[in-house]
Amino acid sequence: MTAILDRADHAPTVSDLDAAGWLAAAVRRPSPNQDARPPNTLIDLLVIHNISLPPGEFGGAWIDDLFLNQLDPNAHPYFAPIAGVRVSAHLLIRRDGQVLQYVPCERRAWHAGVSSFQGRERCNDYSIGIELEGTDDSLFTEAQYQQLVICTRQLQRRYPQISAARIVGHADIAPGRKTDPGPAFDWERYRREIS
Ligand SMILES: [Zn+2]
Repeated sequence: MTAILDRADHAPTVSDLDAAGWLAAAVRRPSPNQDARPPNTLIDLLVIHNISLPPGEFGGAWIDDLFLNQLDPNAHPYFAPIAGVRVSAHLLIRRDGQVLQYVPCERRAWHAGVSSFQGRERCNDYSIGIELEGTDDSLFTEAQYQQLVICTRQLQRRYPQISAARIVGHADIAPGRKTDPGPAFDWERYRREIS
């Protein structure tokens, strides 16, 4: 964590992401749930999510297990119906601020599902997905906001088409189906700190 926070004191450099789009400061956990983006796709959308497994419980390894297709369906009643679901995100920011990366940004992660942004469907094709460990109605931590801001700045430097107006919540691109990151996420603070 310290290494990541220290970097905030310096102007981010292109080397914060390697050619494939791995963040230098993130712990890598490559997920099988990824594939190539359509050819010549401009990455120009950032989608903020929340996730916790089981819902409302923090700190276990279950999110890793889900994204790595290793979730034990018998470990919790909630897990059985989702254990076979093939999903991932590019990044997960845990409650303590640890940043994990499952899919390199140049590749397509499977985080948005059926979705549409300004009439353009299949947001996974052209977006980056960041999961915050949390729920719709529990406050996110200081460490999470700090790391989210750092990650966002690094991503925007690499992908400048991700303007402030092109940072959205999952609920914004899948209304009626998804509610995350939820009302507890402080958009005003986040947008202020990345501006
Ligand atoms: Zn989501």
